[in-house]
Amino acid sequence: MLSTNPKTVRIRGFFRNLSRDTVTTLPNPLKVPMIDIEDSPTTTERPHFESAADVAAFVTSGKAVFTVESVKTGKRFTYRVAKPFDKETGKVDHDATIAFAAALTGPDNTRDYSYFGNVRLSPNGNRYDYGRKAKIGQDAASVLAFAWFWQTVIAGQRLPDTLKVYHEGRCGRCGRALTVPASIRSGIGPECAKRSTMIADEGF
Ligand SMILES: [Zn+2]
Repeated sequence: MLSTNPKTVRIRGFFRNLSRDTVTTLPNPLKVPMIDIEDSPTTTERPHFESAADVAAFVTSGKAVFTVESVKTGKRFTYRVAKPFDKETGKVDHDATIAFAAALTGPDNTRDYSYFGNVRLSPNGNRYDYGRKAKIGQDAASVLAFAWFWQTVIAGQRLPDTLKVYHEGRCGRCGRALTVPASIRSGIGPECAKRSTMIADEGF
């Protein structure tokens, strides 16, 4: 038997990868310095989703990057939920019924994501499970927060007033920058919105 608890090792690994910014989002019991939310001017003015349905549509659209923030504490985490790439085209495989959940664990918000779970997409309801090959411990704050977010907002279809969910200015389906006001609200660009509606009409 190893004397070290493997869970502890994984969590230490997670901490090592955290940037200063994400460290401030960890819960108080971990005794990390907290920055008051008023000190970060960018968060309050960003467009955020207005309903749980909008959040769910965005999060499951294929290439979604979003930030979940507690209004009360200012704690926040940035996640990516992305379908795998099609090996032939090198683009997102929109027919895939699985997407991989990852948390931002470094300074580069286009690259520094650590995988932790799977989202299974089904007409009967979407499901999230912690991944066996997760790079972040199941007890890490970002993973616990995601599980809670999923249960409340996606499965529970409830967006509490105490929670803000932001996209990062890019289409949740294709990743291109959003420019049209309606798209900035929904997080889905006009072309991708048409495609999503078509799929809905076909009964998927
Ligand atoms: Zn798009």
